[in-house]
Amino acid sequence: MSKTTVYAARKIITLNPMQPTASHVAVRDGRILSVGNLEQVKAWGSFELDNRFADHVLMPGLIEGHCHLKEGGMWSMPYLGWFDRRDPNGKVWPGLRSMQEVIERLHAIDREMQLSGCGSDIPLVAWGFDPIYFDNERMTVQHIDRACPDRPVVIAHANGHLMNVNTAMLRLAGITRATEIEGVIKFENGEPTGELQEPAAMFPVVRRIGNAGLLAPMDDAGMAGFAAIARNQGVTTATDLVNRLSESDCDTLERACASEDFSVRLLPAFQAFHGTHGAQEGSAHVRNLMARNTDRLRYGLVKMMLDGSIQGFSARLRWPGYFNGASNGIWVTEPSQFERDFEVYHNAGLTIHTHTNGDEASEVAIDAIERVLARHPRPNHRHTLQHGQLIDAALFRRMAGAGLSVNLFANHLWYWGDQHAELTVGPDRAARMNACASALRAGVPMAIHSDAPVTPLGPLFTAWCAVNRVTPSGRVLGESERISVEQALHAITLGAAWTLGLDQETGSIDCGKRADFCVLEDDPLSVDPIKLKDIKVWGTVLSGKPFAANQ
Ligand SMILES: [Zn+2]
Repeated sequence: MSKTTVYAARKIITLNPMQPTASHVAVRDGRILSVGNLEQVKAWGSFELDNRFADHVLMPGLIEGHCHLKEGGMWSMPYLGWFDRRDPNGKVWPGLRSMQEVIERLHAIDREMQLSGCGSDIPLVAWGFDPIYFDNERMTVQHIDRACPDRPVVIAHANGHLMNVNTAMLRLAGITRATEIEGVIKFENGEPTGELQEPAAMFPVVRRIGNAGLLAPMDDAGMAGFAAIARNQGVTTATDLVNRLSESDCDTLERACASEDFSVRLLPAFQAFHGTHGAQEGSAHVRNLMARNTDRLRYGLVKMMLDGSIQGFSARLRWPGYFNGASNGIWVTEPSQFERDFEVYHNAGLTIHTHTNGDEASEVAIDAIERVLARHPRPNHRHTLQHGQLIDAALFRRMAGAGLSVNLFANHLWYWGDQHAELTVGPDRAARMNACASALRAGVPMAIHSDAPVTPLGPLFTAWCAVNRVTPSGRVLGESERISVEQALHAITLGAAWTLGLDQETGSIDCGKRADFCVLEDDPLSVDPIKLKDIKVWGTVLSGKPFAANQ
């Protein structure tokens, strides 16, 4: 007979409303056999009592419904963000607080590259930059040329939708005053500034640097780095929400997930936009891959994308548009193309996650999905809008009617909350950005996310954002959109599990489910809600096996 292990804990928060708390959980064959007190779990027969968590609080393993594995693989490139950031090894990269600091850092990296024998033709690729923190002074070729006159430089913005390059890189990519691509920003004199918005404009650069930097495929070290970050944050299930799923991408995923020591379940979503495949071919590809699903690796999600980024001014907004007067954003996928492709993936039985940042994009997605569902009804489809940052009450009510879920970008409230109030959408709409309370009032199943590496992976921090809605300057953005700690914990467990079609096997501590736990040093339901983000994570348990964090 299989062995049974009983974990004793200071408290077990089950997220199962029929039995909200417990003190013991029995695990057999990687699954939860019984939850309750010692007397109750004893009834299942002989067991081994494990007291290592006797002073800890257990929760269901946390679920990140929108992140990217690159969170673990970005650290081979220099980080140029405004906020301090911790890498998988625990090293903290200090934030850069002015354009001058960014330029100095670039200059230093260029020198290091020279000293280590890296010829000036080797591009410097960096990430995490966002000019919006410098009063939205846009970076241009002039800034970067000062730091690096010779070496081609590519600076990916934190939002992943924009980049800045220098003159050497523009030359290499063949981008000139004559280039007519939407998103290639130009000075008044017609010369390109070096800011490139969205995939079409970035493509000439990406083609030249090839599979380098941001576009380098995940490797084994990056996968291990991701698993380490997930453990440190209590995450047992995570998505990779844009993946080409080429044969080598799948090999890397399958090699990592085949190991008993890989501590996180993964759900990669197929990149079904800007021309990876036609929709017919793409949906057949994903369906074929699903035959290779294991308990740790699940194919079957599809990612589509409609617009860009709000803080990059490339999201599509309804009236009255951007607060600072910027022109409306970019359709990454034309609305008519979106509807055609969505229909094909939907008819193939797949679950589609659609990126919509601006409210015009969310409305276009809902319009299209309602028409597709009218033509081809499908129960329990779990289609989800990702980000949905400006969805209002009326759109949420339509989403509830169409059976759509939402995964809101709660981390934005902290990372860009002040900029949204002052620059992008103004105080009124900023107060209902990532409107968690409105989503729940409308009955829309809801998750919240980090979009790591756009912001750091950490569901407890994400929950803190949704509960407190505070910004770095001390503003509270929309008090009436705050949710309770209980609701936020639901969003980072069962809420996310629902959007991934996994709520039957994970997301709560309940008999029959996988024994995936997040192990905390304190009780999130009894600390002051403003301290929620400060609770230390001991680590995780996956399929009954403990994994300690490395911090
Ligand atoms: Zn994303």
